[in-house]
Amino acid sequence: MLKRLLKLFDSPDGKKRVIKENQHQIPRQDISQAALKVIHQLQNANHAAYLVGGGVRDLLLDGHPKDFDVATDATPEQVREIFRSARIIGKRFKIVHVRFGREIIEVTTFRGHHNDADSDTQASQSDHGVILRDNVYGDIESDAIRRDFTVNALYYDPNTREVLDFTGGAADLDKRLIRIIGDPETRYKEDPVRMLRAVRFAAKLGFRIETTTDAPIRAHADYLSHIPPARLFEEVLKLFMAGYATATLNLLRDYHLFGYLFPGTEQQLEKGAEYDIEFVTQALINTDKRIRQNKRVTPAFIYAAMLWPQLQAEMRALKEHNISPQEAMQRAAQGIISQQLGHTAIPKRFLIVVREIWSLQLRLPRRDGRRAYVLMEHPRFRAAYDFMLLREQAGEKLDGLGLWWTRFQSVDKEGKEKLIASLKGKGKKRPNRNRRPRKNPTNKADS
Ligand code: ATP
Ligand code: MG
Repeated sequence: MLKRLLKLFDSPDGKKRVIKENQHQIPRQDISQAALKVIHQLQNANHAAYLVGGGVRDLLLDGHPKDFDVATDATPEQVREIFRSARIIGKRFKIVHVRFGREIIEVTTFRGHHNDADSDTQASQSDHGVILRDNVYGDIESDAIRRDFTVNALYYDPNTREVLDFTGGAADLDKRLIRIIGDPETRYKEDPVRMLRAVRFAAKLGFRIETTTDAPIRAHADYLSHIPPARLFEEVLKLFMAGYATATLNLLRDYHLFGYLFPGTEQQLEKGAEYDIEFVTQALINTDKRIRQNKRVTPAFIYAAMLWPQLQAEMRALKEHNISPQEAMQRAAQGIISQQLGHTAIPKRFLIVVREIWSLQLRLPRRDGRRAYVLMEHPRFRAAYDFMLLREQAGEKLDGLGLWWTRFQSVDKEGKEKLIASLKGKGKKRPNRNRRPRKNPTNKADS
């Protein structure tokens, strides 16, 4: 068993430890054939090549890795010569994608220390000390200490079937600890996204963030403002679409990191309205559940949900101006989205869907005549319906709207007509513009 054997290797001298085949239980059948082939071919060409990163970590934890990374002493150009399907990608951090059918194996060249003579052109830092480029190559040991956490710096050689550990990662796996390699502050400064990664792995693996790794995070959460919005968008997807979104949100808020991803949402949640917290939480519970059931989740749904509390607050404020709910939503959405784009970029194709999910919230209550049929044909109907159910779940009173739509979808034509008839005198009423706006915010989409 992993636990027993790792004790043997828990020596604090910082030297390389070798975990032999009979001392770990990596199930060979769980390793991607494509990754094994890549390693085999690199080794055949006289290069060192190992499985590394999350793949090894998850194999040792008896999990099923979602992807496999390979580390090698071959340069990206050399890797490209070996594999016809290889493509060099990334500028900041060059990696090679080797494609085998539908699978892509990420191959990275061992990174080295930045003080090497020729490193100037291959490495650069921003004014804030953030590493902008890291293409200085080195050996396996320098590669290990440039990785983020000890549990992510284990190397597996499928040929000898040994695991190599240069940073104490095996012992930390055993203790279920996320420990950053090197001086925490320096490493967060070099790449503030590591703070998000610490939280992501803690939530995903159910590990504790080791004390010195944990200590600087709250004080330096603001380093995240040095990261381009496009990279933060990628991180948001990893944080909230991996099946552990609920735990991740709690940790992100606890470490004061969430406000750098969704500042408006954080501000709103801080006010402590039960509906807002409940809504966001329910949305994430729902997302986690869908991922576990292998159902599709779209970033648009997550963004629509994350920004909803803010949208509602803005719409409430705008209602005082006596404008229609549609107009209020339009204006509020505009402001919120442009603010959000300054923090995490959202590709246009998702933004369109976010807006559609929101505007359908105003249309779902209007079901009379042919409207319900038309709505059901809308490409975002399903997402909007799920979203509306979440609102109800979070405590919003929508006058039985969820139940009505659930029934409407499950009955035949006659049943549908009956349901529409049951609305007589209900949904048709036009809102009276001169009426004083209702103070109860939770009913507004129901007018
Ligand atoms: P996941 O299960 O999410 O794929 P992972 O650990 O494989 O987790 P990746 O983002 O795929 O994470 O990165 C692969 C490996 O590259 C990591 O395990 C780590 O060793 C290294 N790495 C990734 N990002 C960083 C970073 N920002 N700083 C240092 N090392 C990193
Ligand atoms: Mg990975």
